[in-house]
Amino acid sequence: VYTLALESSCDETSAAVLQDGRTILSNVISSQIPIHRKFGGVVPEVASRHHIEQVIPVIDQALADAHVTLQDIDHIGVTYGPGLVGALLVGVAAAKGLSFATDIPLIGVNHMEGHIFANFLANPELEPPFLSLVVSGGHTMLVVVKDYETFEILGQTRDDAAGEAFDKIARVMGFPYPGGPHIDNIAMEGNPEAIEFPKALSEPGNFEFSFSGLKSAVLNYLNSAAQKNIEINKADVAASFQKALVDVLVEKTEDAAKRTGQMKITIAGGVSANKGLQKAIKEMCERNGFMYYEPHKILSTDNAAMIGCRAYYMAQAGKFSDLSLNAKPSVDIGTVSWVESIK
Ligand code: ATP
Ligand code: MG
Ligand code: FE
Repeated sequence: VYTLALESSCDETSAAVLQDGRTILSNVISSQIPIHRKFGGVVPEVASRHHIEQVIPVIDQALADAHVTLQDIDHIGVTYGPGLVGALLVGVAAAKGLSFATDIPLIGVNHMEGHIFANFLANPELEPPFLSLVVSGGHTMLVVVKDYETFEILGQTRDDAAGEAFDKIARVMGFPYPGGPHIDNIAMEGNPEAIEFPKALSEPGNFEFSFSGLKSAVLNYLNSAAQKNIEINKADVAASFQKALVDVLVEKTEDAAKRTGQMKITIAGGVSANKGLQKAIKEMCERNGFMYYEPHKILSTDNAAMIGCRAYYMAQAGKFSDLSLNAKPSVDIGTVSWVESIK
């Protein structure tokens, strides 16, 4: 079975070809990061325009790299949400056009389910059930993946996502967009105990997150140092901020695993590439005898291979879309995108 997948929810235009859901034959990613860097963040209209320019070349490249043609493809998976509506529309329109022209079945994929499914690509032996800590640019949540089609959200963030907090603090510290990886790198040289930043909602059994208080505390620290003309130690600030955030993520993941009886832990989303988080989660899993899984770096940030993996399992379950599929900027994990009558 060959899956063609498209992803265009934010600032990566990506197309991939998968064989039998778990083998990546190609995963072409055209990143717009250098373009958005001069604005300090993603500019939606600019993103849409670049997706339009990139989408067809990226599909052609993915087919060529995989040494297949459209005739070999069994279904087309595409991210339909959540994300920037104008960005999503480009991928959805391209996928619908291809599906209409070739009669290849269409599958609308939830981007966050795709992030979780990246773990199946990186870890061939992984099977549900497991607990997933999803930490990305726009989302932070704990999800129990009961089987390939059943997801239970235990809790989400009430305000900022983990990646958002990383990026905003990095920006004020003078790092280019996206700042998460820069904080990660400089934090390795700093003392995580140097400054004590607040942790929110840390009572046991609470699986909601809140990072706006932490973000404000770090920004206040930076601003007041600037006002008083005090030279700050960037590495210490980065390490202390990252520790405060990672501690909350790890404590809640441990608590959730114990309370739900899950023995396998996966992390997903762009922030799952964070070295400090990976190390702390791994140690927590070792302490508790949990199995630990993570996506490789290229599979943690946005890519079409993860969308293809999710699409493959949806195809197995008969969850196909029709041409009424539309971009949805905000849509929860587990939301129905398929049409019951198409099987
Ligand atoms: P969403 O998936 O919620 O729609 P998104 O697609 O924009 O949002 P991702 O591509 O999953 O987000 O991840 C991008 C985020 O990951 C950015 O906020 C980036 O700073 C962060 N990130 C990437 N690498 C690291 C790292 N090593 N440490 C911390 N954050 C990181
Ligand atoms: Mg991105
Ligand atoms: Fe993403």
